[in-house]
Amino acid sequence: MPVAEESVATVAKEHETTPFFESVNRNFARAAALLNYPRGLLEQIRVCNKVYYVQFPVRIRGEIQVIQGWRAEHSHHRLPCKGGIRYAETVDLDEIMALAALMTYKCAIVNVPFGGAKGGIKINPRNYTEEELERITRRYTVELIQKNFIGPSLDVPAPDYGTGAREMAWIADTYMAFRPDDINALACVTGKPVEQGGVRGRTEATGLGVYFGIREALSVPELVRPLGLEPGIEGKRVIVQGFGNVGYHAAKFLQQEGGAIITAVIEWDGAVYNPDGIDVEDLARHRRETGSILHYPRAKTIPLEERDSVLEYECDILLPAALESQIHRYNAPRIQAKIIAEAANGPTTAAAEEILERRGILVIPDIFLNAGGVVVSYFEWLKNISHVRLGRLEKRFEERTNQQLIEMVERLTGQSLTPRERQLLLRGPGEEDLVRSGLEDTMIAAFHEIWHIYKERKGVPNLRTAAFVCAIDKIATAYFQLGIFP
Ligand code: GLU
Repeated sequence: MPVAEESVATVAKEHETTPFFESVNRNFARAAALLNYPRGLLEQIRVCNKVYYVQFPVRIRGEIQVIQGWRAEHSHHRLPCKGGIRYAETVDLDEIMALAALMTYKCAIVNVPFGGAKGGIKINPRNYTEEELERITRRYTVELIQKNFIGPSLDVPAPDYGTGAREMAWIADTYMAFRPDDINALACVTGKPVEQGGVRGRTEATGLGVYFGIREALSVPELVRPLGLEPGIEGKRVIVQGFGNVGYHAAKFLQQEGGAIITAVIEWDGAVYNPDGIDVEDLARHRRETGSILHYPRAKTIPLEERDSVLEYECDILLPAALESQIHRYNAPRIQAKIIAEAANGPTTAAAEEILERRGILVIPDIFLNAGGVVVSYFEWLKNISHVRLGRLEKRFEERTNQQLIEMVERLTGQSLTPRERQLLLRGPGEEDLVRSGLEDTMIAAFHEIWHIYKERKGVPNLRTAAFVCAIDKIATAYFQLGIFP
């Protein structure tokens, strides 16, 4: 069964008094105050443009159940709108609007030419069979089609918390059945299985992007030395909250490519902790076999009642990769991490951020750090509308060019390469290579844009505000280019 985009069900909403969208808007306002745009334009950028709320009946085990769903299109300054669909009991209008807004800023930061959107269905997917989930997903898709809330040039969903490639395949199939004459129908949704029009590398994209983003931030001595840390990921102790698609992949790349030590993993039913490090792949295997990360033999199990206290354990990097509002005004004073790397959307509330800032904790913001998912979604969409696999045209050509180059170098130097060296140099890029290098380049470039704003612009207090400044500047420019303010 495909892994859902997220699988932790930790919710700290009850702790937080500020609604999620308001928290996002407080962050927006801090950046807007530093910019010289007309008030009305800033207001147009901030508000959510279009929202759809639907209640539809689905027959579940003989009973009719009324299901609630939403889709919010936050910004139409670029089309299509883009953003995931989440299945969770926490879903409500405020959450979906806040998440849609984050998508707008995220896309702008990584130069993905889309507006932001988000959808959600208020269910706990664990309570439904696969066949029931398929019925719910297909029915929700029909509702979106009827109201023009889905389409390759309008609004393109993707996986989010509680959904994955399987759900995206159902959405694509339903859409194609309704729009058989749309040659670009496959581009109506991203995050599809590779066999059904997906792109290689989308599943791990968000986690890999998180790794690239942390690696880049931690390579800047000016940023990490004041925290009492040395640059680089090697040897840094990391606590991961959420072992879904994003948390698992981020932890895996941090450990395997960066040499980080994963000391704790927190999930919906408890946590595991080992100060000497937990092998991410081995823990994933344990969960596949037992259904839970708990009772993993090479770590201490922390029961559900004490789960949230693990966020406050000593570490270098705390990586929330679950739901929003996990670090709130009540636990922020007790967080011992030096860096919070926001793999989830909105894990730190605006109130908590002020506390963290006073305490000198560095936050690497969500709208930059977790943008890898939508970056690779963009590549998938491009693949779908261009109807050609990435790399198909140039792979063989590059291999032949490399071959000629190798032969020339060997002739001129009189030396020959080992078979391994030859193999490395010969290979032309496949789809996965192109996706990975495109993602890496995007994350590096985006970090440096934000870093530049943080360093050079007066009054920018932190990386999040810098990221918002970066996003607002680009969206404002797009509005001016559109010429909608004559
Ligand atoms: N749900 C992911 C996010 O929050 C991916 C969105 C997408 O690929 O459109 O960024």
